[in-house]
Amino acid sequence: MPDHQQELLKFQRRLSEKIPRRERFEAAINEIAASFGISRIESGVGPGRLTLYSSGMISDSLPLEHVYRGGKGSKKKILVFPVNECFTEEEAPWIEMLAFSCAQYLEHIDYNRLIERSAATNPLTGLPNGSGYNTTVRRLFNAGMLPAYDSFAFNLKGFGYISKRIGLKNADNIMVIYASEISAFLKNDEIIGHLGGDNYVALIKKEHSEAFLKLLSGIPIEAELGEETFSARIAATVGVWQIDAESLHDPLDIVSKPSVALSIARNETHEPVCFVNEKIEAEVNRQKQILEFFDEALAKREFTIYYQPKVNSDTHMLVGAEGLVRWQHEGETFSPGTFVPVLEREGLISRLDMYVLEQVCSDQSRWREQGLDPVCVSVNVSRRDLSNQHLSEDIVAVIEKYSLDRSLVQIEITETVDEQEHGLLSAFLKHLWDSGISTSIDDFGSGYSSLSTLRNLQINELKIDRSFIDNEDFSDQDRIILTDIIHMAEELGISVITEGVERREQLEFVRNAGCHTIQGFYYDRPMKAEEFTTKLAQKQYKK
Ligand code: C2E
Ligand code: MG
Ligand code: MG
Repeated sequence: MPDHQQELLKFQRRLSEKIPRRERFEAAINEIAASFGISRIESGVGPGRLTLYSSGMISDSLPLEHVYRGGKGSKKKILVFPVNECFTEEEAPWIEMLAFSCAQYLEHIDYNRLIERSAATNPLTGLPNGSGYNTTVRRLFNAGMLPAYDSFAFNLKGFGYISKRIGLKNADNIMVIYASEISAFLKNDEIIGHLGGDNYVALIKKEHSEAFLKLLSGIPIEAELGEETFSARIAATVGVWQIDAESLHDPLDIVSKPSVALSIARNETHEPVCFVNEKIEAEVNRQKQILEFFDEALAKREFTIYYQPKVNSDTHMLVGAEGLVRWQHEGETFSPGTFVPVLEREGLISRLDMYVLEQVCSDQSRWREQGLDPVCVSVNVSRRDLSNQHLSEDIVAVIEKYSLDRSLVQIEITETVDEQEHGLLSAFLKHLWDSGISTSIDDFGSGYSSLSTLRNLQINELKIDRSFIDNEDFSDQDRIILTDIIHMAEELGISVITEGVERREQLEFVRNAGCHTIQGFYYDRPMKAEEFTTKLAQKQYKK
């Protein structure tokens, strides 16, 4: 007589390890079947996922059902045929327990599959997300199939504006329609990934690639949005890498190469399509090196803070500074423009931003110990950092760690059109406001900033972008716009600073418009902490 309890324990132990898998389950049940008087196991038959038959006679009695929840909450059954009559009286309760264990394990398998699937798909469009896409890329890479494809990265033109016009929820519906139009175009062995927002990647067979580009140049989308009909042609800006076997060494290139081409199309050439060329290949390698060295560079403290003074243009007194990061690597100094965008894209920028904040706080506390009269120093925070829900708490904690007066640190961040991001930004600024930490909207007037959104943000300062004053001579229009902005900000209790002031005429222009705080080469360039220490001791500029 087999020891059912022992067998059942063995069965449960075999299944308690690692990730639940159907194959492991089937092997385990087959192993113990005979000792439980089970003659036949049918898997995935009828309404159940598993049917166990006893070695005795099949009778007409109803099967014992063990109902368990399938992946999406659907009910599934395990049928044990027939229980009381053909399993012996002694066997029957053990069979029940076995069926119960099976039900639990099968439920576990289903849940796990669901979790794996949702971790690999974009929740809005159901397309593979970055991680799901990369899994397929790796599979195709290992199978040597990638040279048959062209690799795409694309971004929808003006989707931020569509979203602003019709609202986030409607924009989501439009995105779902767009994604399904593109998916309908794909052949069997082609794939598309939705990385989030309006960013996509795709692997398209070479012979199909031209037609795909044509499709991306404009997809007509129509949708009923309540009372209104939405109708637009949505075009994309595209980066393309025509994969060739010779230069394909790293599956990560499948996304990074066309992505760099895409960013060149968007920011430099302003063309709808950019193909990967030698220059882009070199840029991809440079970016790879940045990522490779980043951890080590943080540990070796290769990032240094330069301080650029902010000056009152009436009194020519130093009133504050901005901390700007530089990377000193193997005897060379790199400016943030060369590495910040790469770290932003890879989600690493918040580590650098917190490092910079910490360094600034440490310098501030040293200056205090030296008996210097400190000024407020602003630190840049990337909008990417907003995905950290504890960002404002983290900032406050660093300032507290150095027991600094909260008025000695200011946070600079740029505006956004993305509504979801706007919500995060607004909550972040409010939290800092409530914590007594001053905030500034950086690069105001460039790109996406708009006066109307200022109404909803609790901020202390507007930092007027250099582009506002980057003219040989100033028109009446320039003057009226700037004066109005400054006036409006003042009415709202927001102070104004202008950055990038290099020349006397620019200084006069902004002063006449009502802005008296200046940051720019006219007074000083960003400088190392030691040099800034002497500025702090002196404070007065001779102009
Ligand atoms: P930003 O925050 O708008 O910083 C102002 C930039 O303008 C600085 O460039 C500064 O050196 C430059 N600048 C200041 N005055 C003048 C001027 O009179 N003429 C000209 N032509 N330029 C002037 P920098 O240091 O290269 O920084 C560039 C950008 O990199 C910054 O723009 C900021 O967005 C970003 N950045 C710098 N440090 C950090 C950081 O720690 N974290 C993050 N996330 N971004 C940073
Ligand atoms: Mg700044
Ligand atoms: Mg700026």
